[in-house]
Amino acid sequence: MSTRTLPLDDQLYSYLQGVSLREPPAFRRCRTETAELPMARMQIAPEQGQFLHLQARLIGAKRAIEIGSFTGYSGLWIASALPPGGCLIACDINEEWTSRARHYWESAGVMDRIELCVAPAMQTLHKLVENEEQDSYDFVFIDADKESYESYYERALTLVRPGGLIAIDNVLWDGKVADQAVDDPDTRAIRVLNEKLHEDQRIDLSMVPVGDGVTLCRKRDMA
Ligand code: SAM
Ligand code: CA
Repeated sequence: MSTRTLPLDDQLYSYLQGVSLREPPAFRRCRTETAELPMARMQIAPEQGQFLHLQARLIGAKRAIEIGSFTGYSGLWIASALPPGGCLIACDINEEWTSRARHYWESAGVMDRIELCVAPAMQTLHKLVENEEQDSYDFVFIDADKESYESYYERALTLVRPGGLIAIDNVLWDGKVADQAVDDPDTRAIRVLNEKLHEDQRIDLSMVPVGDGVTLCRKRDMA
């Protein structure tokens, strides 16, 4: 037993996946085919995908936003948690990766619930605010360019309803956030946001050491 979070060696990690992961074959195909691409490391871990799915289910999410879709893996888990008639706004700037995403979303039967916006994410989020969609989303997953994380978070907090959830990926950044010898723009941006979230009274939060670290932020009623 331990009073702190256990480190996961290969044996324990494989056990965790073996007794808990329920990854549909179409999702596995997206993951294993993406693993062949040079940028494969950008994809979230499967147990993290299942965790996002559970979060969306727990709050009864119907309307969601994903900032950073890549080849569609996290979008598969989020969209499949939404009920018929639900909607995931999927934001990404890359045509090639999102055409792969569209293929996987179609083969998994979730394309009817996804609106893909191929444009800079801030532009898409700005349009949602212009359309007066504040306080109308249940769930937002942030996983795009790290230097924009703080801006994405502020926009997400505007768009999500009180009681809604914002999940922010890569908050442990391969351990670099805690290494004072590292001082590049991405690491700095994640550190700044982590410290801001810790103090931010508009949210309840938990930083969860799953995958590369994900912070869950629940928007408080007064926010
Ligand atoms: N969530 C994805 C998954 O688990 O498979 C991984 C997303 S990957 C880490 C980051 C994505 O953000 C890339 O696909 C990239 O094209 C996209 N991106 C980078 N800058 C962006 C921007 N300004 N607006 C929208 N998307 C952006
Ligand atoms: Ca990520």
